[in-house]
Amino acid sequence: MSEDTRGLFEQGLRRGARGLGTGVDRGTRMSTKDLIDLEDRYGAHNYHPLDVVIERARGVWVWDLDGKRYLDCLAAYSAVNQGHCHPRVLEALVAQAGKVALTSRAFRNDQLPLLYEELHELTGMDVALPMNTGAEAVETAIKAARKWGYERKGIPEDQAELVVSAGNFHGRTITIVSFSTEAQYRRGFGPMTPGFRVIPYGDADALAKAIGPNTCGFLVEPIQGEAGIIIPPRGFLAAAQQICRKERVLFMLDEIQTGFGRTGKLFAYMHEDARPDMLIVGKALSAGFYPVSAVLGSREVMDVFTPGDHGSTFGGNPLACAVARAALRVLRDEKLPERSAELGEYFLGRLRTLRSEQIRDIRGKGLFIGLEMSGPARPYCEALEEEGILCKETHERVIRFAPPLVIERDEIDWAFDRIRKVVEAH
Ligand SMILES: *Cc1c(COP(=O)(O)O)cnc(C)c1O
Repeated sequence: MSEDTRGLFEQGLRRGARGLGTGVDRGTRMSTKDLIDLEDRYGAHNYHPLDVVIERARGVWVWDLDGKRYLDCLAAYSAVNQGHCHPRVLEALVAQAGKVALTSRAFRNDQLPLLYEELHELTGMDVALPMNTGAEAVETAIKAARKWGYERKGIPEDQAELVVSAGNFHGRTITIVSFSTEAQYRRGFGPMTPGFRVIPYGDADALAKAIGPNTCGFLVEPIQGEAGIIIPPRGFLAAAQQICRKERVLFMLDEIQTGFGRTGKLFAYMHEDARPDMLIVGKALSAGFYPVSAVLGSREVMDVFTPGDHGSTFGGNPLACAVARAALRVLRDEKLPERSAELGEYFLGRLRTLRSEQIRDIRGKGLFIGLEMSGPARPYCEALEEEGILCKETHERVIRFAPPLVIERDEIDWAFDRIRKVVEAH
């Protein structure tokens, strides 16, 4: 880091630590209500957030405007597995931002090759293609699979099909919502992209039956997060991989949410050793600082892309790559997948001691845990917020517990006491 950058960095850190703004916000502090009103007035209403206005965060904790502290049990949908504002990633971000942030892929930069090499060493996948958001990476994987189908498998033009699962969540673009089974994600957004076949989640026989001569890929989440932490039957991933191999269909795993330690392994497919042909990653690849995603695949598949086929102005930029490299180092040095396995088991064990008629199911892998209630989960999330725990209901009835993987055992105990109070009182 240069002297200049270090000065700015340290000043920023000091201001951050004291809970001060960046200097560009208004002179007078606005109230929680004012900010919520502003947001509702000038923003699109495509979310229904809890009414907590977060001002700063560190590790597993976030603070609202009044200085109230909450334990974050969502971790930005698993984008902050490394914990909020991890100092090592922050330092890499600031240092790189002071050198060069964006070159575009018209030129090369000195960070991208290193990220490629590190992703290869970490995952064993041949090559990577960097994008920004998860949805873009999924789109990229679909494009690769289709082109591979035409060029390598000889599928007739415009006939390629992908098999996907009921209850899937892969993002929000038109093509991705085209194969969602959630009516609200599709309604009003047609015409939809054709070329997808839906099977029940976790059903290997249905997969075998759905594959036809024009099938190029099977795209699936190893655990369905947004559907409510749905874990497929044991052996499903390995069976699916076998079927795909036999039928010459690409086995494509969306590990955007389950990847990078969330389920107690580096990737969720490792629970069954069901290695994919294409691995889609995002979220925690940047420790939450910046959108970074990627598609990892074999040389054979990824070589269908030639210059001009596909790209992104920001994809693979040096700032993103420096952040991702630091995020991966933290994951490795702090043994986050191992922590997730151990503490997830502990957390799940404690949750299983809850006594309430309202609990329908408790399930999870690593620190990826769902508590399914017999009624709406939202009131529980609101009561937990009161107690200082931030959760978000998923699929109406499921409370998801997915804190940053740096959480400590005594913090789980702290959370559990409050969860018990809320759940057993209802
Ligand atoms: C979050 C998510 C996506 C979409 O990622 P964005 O960055 O929001 O576009 C895709 N697939 C899964 C499994 C996800 O959890």
